[in-house]
Amino acid sequence: MAAPIVSDRSAPERAAAESLQSFEATSPPSAPLAGFSGTRRVPPPVNEPVKSYAPGSPEKAALKARLASMAKERVDIPIIIGGKEIRTGDLAQVVMPHDHAHVLGDWHKATTPHVQQAIVASKAAGVEWANWAWEDRAAVFLRAAELLTTTWRQTINASTMLGQSKTAFQAEIDSACELIDFWRFNPFYAQQLYDEQPISNNVMWNQLDYRPLEGFVYAVTPFNFTSIAGNLPTAPALMGNTVVWKPAGTAILSAYYLMKLLEEAGLPPGVINFVPGDPVAISNVALAHRDLAGVHFTGSTGVFNKMWETIGADMSRYASYPRIVGETGGKDFIVAHSSADPKALAVAIARGGFEYQGQKCSAASRVYVPRSIWKEVRERTVAIIEELKVGDITDFRNFMGAVIDKKAFTKISEYVEHAKKNAKVIAGGTVDGKDGYFVHPTLVETTDPGYRLLCEEIFGPVVTVHVYDDAKWTETLAIVDRTSPYALTGAVFANDRGAVREAMMALRNAAGNFYVNDKPTGAVVGQQPFGGARGSGTNDKAGSKLNLVRWVSARSIKETFSPPTDYRYPFMDEK
Ligand code: NAD
Repeated sequence: MAAPIVSDRSAPERAAAESLQSFEATSPPSAPLAGFSGTRRVPPPVNEPVKSYAPGSPEKAALKARLASMAKERVDIPIIIGGKEIRTGDLAQVVMPHDHAHVLGDWHKATTPHVQQAIVASKAAGVEWANWAWEDRAAVFLRAAELLTTTWRQTINASTMLGQSKTAFQAEIDSACELIDFWRFNPFYAQQLYDEQPISNNVMWNQLDYRPLEGFVYAVTPFNFTSIAGNLPTAPALMGNTVVWKPAGTAILSAYYLMKLLEEAGLPPGVINFVPGDPVAISNVALAHRDLAGVHFTGSTGVFNKMWETIGADMSRYASYPRIVGETGGKDFIVAHSSADPKALAVAIARGGFEYQGQKCSAASRVYVPRSIWKEVRERTVAIIEELKVGDITDFRNFMGAVIDKKAFTKISEYVEHAKKNAKVIAGGTVDGKDGYFVHPTLVETTDPGYRLLCEEIFGPVVTVHVYDDAKWTETLAIVDRTSPYALTGAVFANDRGAVREAMMALRNAAGNFYVNDKPTGAVVGQQPFGGARGSGTNDKAGSKLNLVRWVSARSIKETFSPPTDYRYPFMDEK
């Protein structure tokens, strides 16, 4: 019997040998597709104006019409790999969270071989895409922004409203404006990055070649922002990378329409591959692949930690060190000083805590109010909550829709029950999952600053208030800082400048996005680059140069115009 062949290679050597084999499968790079001489400049970006959808406005009429037509459709959503649509027949349904018997579509689930195919397709597409002049890549996303501004706006907004239960305004600021901004500002930031070049002189020219990463980027997106679903695959793609994109199962309709929009904008097949399906099965293949070059994730902290552990468990299997970028959970705070304006504070609690049903990573969910102003703040906040209408988002009088799915509904309902038993529910507290997953805006008061609802991410419309003695302002800031493992967003309300300064210092590391006399939600691209630290993520600030820098691997090039022709140095002439 022949002896088994025992490899004497180390793991990295084996990986390198396999790499040669896997690259043989792809064609050699074609010549750079330059064909242009001149320094091009992208159009200066401006933030997309938010439309009002007020009665009688043309945008309201257009959106209502698209909502009505989309509600009658049942879309068949394929996997899209290398530009080809694939239908497995293994289906899951897209339903309206606010009317969960209403089916909007069926999506085909990808399996393990599809992930392999998507990786091969991304590698094949990368051969050309990585060599395109960056301005041509930028043009694809600038065109996508323009399509979203015009012909695609109401389809993307309507799919976000019906599929994710956002109101017209919440859809507009997310799926239209924020995504348009990502696609306009990222090319501008890429240009700034590429402009950064080292010093040179008359004998040498130094250059930085901002190469894309070698391999594919795995983008995993959350349900709660269509703009994030659009940004996570496209930011690495803009920098010349190719992508395997796993969208959230609860936001498939808007994600699918984004793929179609990008195709119309001229994105070449295979640059972004759309692979919806079981997150664990898909991630197992993508994360174990030797050509994994990066992960672009937004979602919960637990899932991100698991992905990081999987990658870290065996680094020798990768050709390069994967870039791991993740924006994760939050337990965002508002801390008020006794000099705060109770009126502004109450509005910030209501808008910051309950818009999009509290399902924003930045949503205010713990509030600290001094005893001296609590009575007025409570009365004002409760009065607002009693006015807030919850229901079908196609009825524009509603301020809130439903939470995303049954799992979220059950989890949030359990927190509400916990508050009823262990704290004081001072507004809301009702849930109704019969036709839609509705949780009414709930305000909880507790005397215990360590109470569970002040510490854990609930991701629903539940805000917990701790009332503190005015004299304990400084101690309260320390409590705010230590109470949760997250550090995403936070706000201080105070008219006393000394108090603002003290809070800014004491809470310097407690939030990646810090607000003064403003609610902690609603960051705008180009204005408040977004991301948190500690358990809230790697803080790579989506929609900024800081994020784009993660998707390039710079090569330094030194060219000498008069190379030395004598090996000897002057010091050697010693007599
Ligand atoms: P989630 O973690 O459940 O899902 C996010 C993505 O990960 C989805 O695509 C999902 O299918 C996938 N996923 C789920 N389990 C997985 C697993 N075991 N392995 C690999 N992938 C897996 O999060 P969500 O419910 O979609 O979004 C809500 C969370 O996202 C909240 O924690 C919120 O704070 C966070 N979030 C953070 C930011 C930010 O910028 N920091 C922005 C939006 C949302």
